[in-house]
Amino acid sequence: MRVLVNNEIVHREDVRIDFEDRGYQFGDGIYEVVRVYEGEAYELNEHIHRFYRSAKEIGITPPQSKNEMKSNIEDVITENKLLEGGIYFQMTRGVAPRKHQYEKEIEPKLIAYPLYFTRPEKQQNEGVSVLTADDLRWHRCDIKSLNLLYNIMMKQKAHDSGSFETIFIRDELVTEGTSTNVFMIKDNVISTHPADNNILNGITRMKVLHLLNEEHIPYEEKSFTKQELLDADEVFITSTTSEVMPVLKVDEQVIGNGLPGILTKRLHSLFLHDIKSPEIVRG
Ligand code: PMP
Repeated sequence: MRVLVNNEIVHREDVRIDFEDRGYQFGDGIYEVVRVYEGEAYELNEHIHRFYRSAKEIGITPPQSKNEMKSNIEDVITENKLLEGGIYFQMTRGVAPRKHQYEKEIEPKLIAYPLYFTRPEKQQNEGVSVLTADDLRWHRCDIKSLNLLYNIMMKQKAHDSGSFETIFIRDELVTEGTSTNVFMIKDNVISTHPADNNILNGITRMKVLHLLNEEHIPYEEKSFTKQELLDADEVFITSTTSEVMPVLKVDEQVIGNGLPGILTKRLHSLFLHDIKSPEIVRG
């Protein structure tokens, strides 16, 4: 495997990560996962834009410009001959003697490497079950931080019970999943939590809203309760790896008629069309 380390692509064996890296000790850093379809990164500009935004929010300056990062990531895809999967990239604040506060001069460490996975077609076609849990995370979920402890605890809980995802509830309202955004449809109106500090504004979420605009399908960025979620006609979750995935059960309760919803399936096919020909859909 070939890995980008700051501005250089090296063999995996030659990557050196220091044990005093603040990412390792504090989770002091940020990340992105971008999808690669047929050797091309999908929505790469949007992921880089969000990466820079997260970096700015926690006060790290990336070691390269957005354009350099874009071409470096494209080089990682090419050098690894990656056709299907994703690129994981993360940046930590860098290496320093362990203490909570930091000197501004530390050099950030950027790495990017390929992830090998394919589309989860079975779950996309058949739908999935999810659990719910109190959203005990901090209030800056808009930052794509390396600190994912509660997310992984709750994803593992779902996994252990044979569910695909856990959906978080904060102050009675549905926020998002551990690694997905949540949408519900009632009487043909689609709702999803507004893009504020309590969710990560998913690239897939934004793409779905864009497609809804194009298709003149009504939606609202408005939060809803767990009860409204349970009473929905259709529920689906979105993410870079899941795309648009129907949810058939929430906490063992069946949603709608218990089958992947018509609008959900239509949105997924619009999404798949966008992957193949983004410029046509964008116009
Ligand atoms: N929310 C959280 C907490 C996530 O980790 C993710 C995955 N990055 C998402 C939502 C979905 O975002 P995206 O569509 O950009 O993958």
